[in-house]
Amino acid sequence: MSATTEAGSAATAEQVRAEVAAWLAENFQPGASGPQWREKLVDSGWAAPTWPVEWYGRGLPRDMRKVVTEEFTRAGARAPALDVTQLFANTILAHGTEEQKKAFVRPLALGEHRGCLLYSEPGAGSDLAALQTRAERDGDTWVVNGQKVWTSGAREATHGFLVARTDWDVPKHRGLTFFWIPMDQPGIEVRPIHQVTGGSEFNEVFLADAVVPDTHRLGEVNDGWRVLQTALGFERLIMGSVAGGGPRQRRRAAGAAATLADRQSPWTRKIGGADYIELAKQVGKAADPVTRQEIAYLYTLEKVNVWNSLRARADSGRGAASPLASIGKLAMSRIVHTGVAVTTNLLGTASVLDGDTDPVAAEVNRSSFAAFVTSIGGGTDQIQRNIIGERVLGLPKEPEVDRNMPFREVRKAQAVRRFS
Ligand SMILES: Cc1cc2nc3c(=O)[nH]c(=O)nc-3n(C[C@H](O)[C@H](O)[C@H](O)COP(=O)(O)OP(=O)(O)OC[C@H]3O[C@@H](n4cnc5c(N)ncnc54)[C@H](O)[C@@H]3O)c2cc1C
Repeated sequence: MSATTEAGSAATAEQVRAEVAAWLAENFQPGASGPQWREKLVDSGWAAPTWPVEWYGRGLPRDMRKVVTEEFTRAGARAPALDVTQLFANTILAHGTEEQKKAFVRPLALGEHRGCLLYSEPGAGSDLAALQTRAERDGDTWVVNGQKVWTSGAREATHGFLVARTDWDVPKHRGLTFFWIPMDQPGIEVRPIHQVTGGSEFNEVFLADAVVPDTHRLGEVNDGWRVLQTALGFERLIMGSVAGGGPRQRRRAAGAAATLADRQSPWTRKIGGADYIELAKQVGKAADPVTRQEIAYLYTLEKVNVWNSLRARADSGRGAASPLASIGKLAMSRIVHTGVAVTTNLLGTASVLDGDTDPVAAEVNRSSFAAFVTSIGGGTDQIQRNIIGERVLGLPKEPEVDRNMPFREVRKAQAVRRFS
C-alpha cells in the first residue's frame, strides 16, 4: 500500500513538488525501469497520484498530476501515467467490493493484468444494450456464450470487461451484468481482424461455455448498464484528453504531423498549432491564406478542448464519469481529422503515396486511415452528439420504441453462433 501523502488532499503544488522530489532523490536511479522499479513506484502511490491513498494512490486532486509529472521529468524518470490510462482500475475502484479491489487493482497497476473491452457484438454497437451474449448462473460461476467483435488488444489481454445478458424478460438495459472475465481459458477463442492499414489490432472473440466466477462480477446482477456507463465515461475522458495532453499525447493526436516532425527536424518534439506553421514554412506554404486559416482553426480547437477536458475532469468525481467527456471525445475526433487534412494539404499529392520510397508520405497516408479510429471507437461521433444533446443540453431523448419492452420480445439481429 502507498504511503500517505503527508500534505494530504489539501496539499499545495509546492508541497507536492517537494514531496515528489524527495521521494525521487531517495528512490530513483537513472535508467531505472522494469518490474522492480514499477513495483516501487506503484507501492509509493506516485504511479497513480489521484487514486485513493489506500489503493496505491496519493489521494491528490487531478490538477496535481501535472506537478508530479513535471518533477518526474525533471529527475529524468518516466512520468507516471497510470491514473490516465487505467480505466479498468478506475472502474473496479468505483464498483468493486473490497475483496475485488484487493484482488484486481495491484496486478493492474503493476501491468501483470491487462484488460480488453468485450462490449460490441455483430448486432450491437451504438445500440449496445441490444447485445445477445448470454451469461447463465451455475453455482458460484457463470457460463458465457456469444460473440464479441472489434475487441482491441484481446490477444494481449489477461482479462476483459464483459457485458452479458443475464435476464431476457426485462427491458434491454435492465438485464445486463458486468464481469471481469479471465481470457486464458478453453471457452474463449480470439481471432484477429485484418485492417486496411495493414495492422490487426482488433479481434473477434468467441465465447463458448466460457466460465467466469461470480467473484469477478462488478456490481449487482442485472445492473451492468450502470457499471458500463462508468467504464465508458472513463474511456471517453481518456480519448477526449489525448489531444490536449502533454507533448507525447499531442503527438499521438496529430500522428501524421508528429511523424513528419520526428523524421525531419528537431522542431518536431512537440506538435500544436505552432508546429504546423513550421511544417508550412518547410513546404513553402506559410503565406498561403487557406493554409493559415486551417492552422488557426486547428489551434483553436486544440485550445478549447484543453479547457473542456479540465471542465470534464472537474465535473467527474471518482467513480462518476461526466457527460462532458463526450464533448472532449467529439472534439478530439475533429482535431485528429483536421490535423490529417492540414498535413495532407501541405504535402499535396505525395500524401497518397505508400511504401518505402517516401516513408513520411506513407505515414501521412496511414494516419489518414487511422483518423477514423477516433470517430468510431468508444462510441461514434453521432452517439456523442446524442449524449451531449440529451445529457448536457437537456434536449428530449431520441425515440426508442423497444426501450421498455422485455428484451425477449424485441426484434433483433440474428444471434451469432460460433462456427469453427
Ligand atoms: C478503433 C476502434 C476500437 C474499438 N475497440 C473496441 C473494443 O475494444 N471493444 C469493443 O467492444 N468495441 C470496440 N470498438 C467498436 C466500437 O465501439 C463500435 O464500432 C461503435 O460503438 C459503433 O458500433 P458499430 O460499428 O456496430 O456501428 P453502428 O452502431 O452499426 O453504427 C453505424 C452508423 O450509424 C450511426 N448511428 C447508429 N445509431 C445512431 C443513432 N442512434 N443516432 C445517430 N446515428 C447513429 C453511427 O454513428 C454510425 O455512423 C472499436 C471500434 C474502433 C473503431
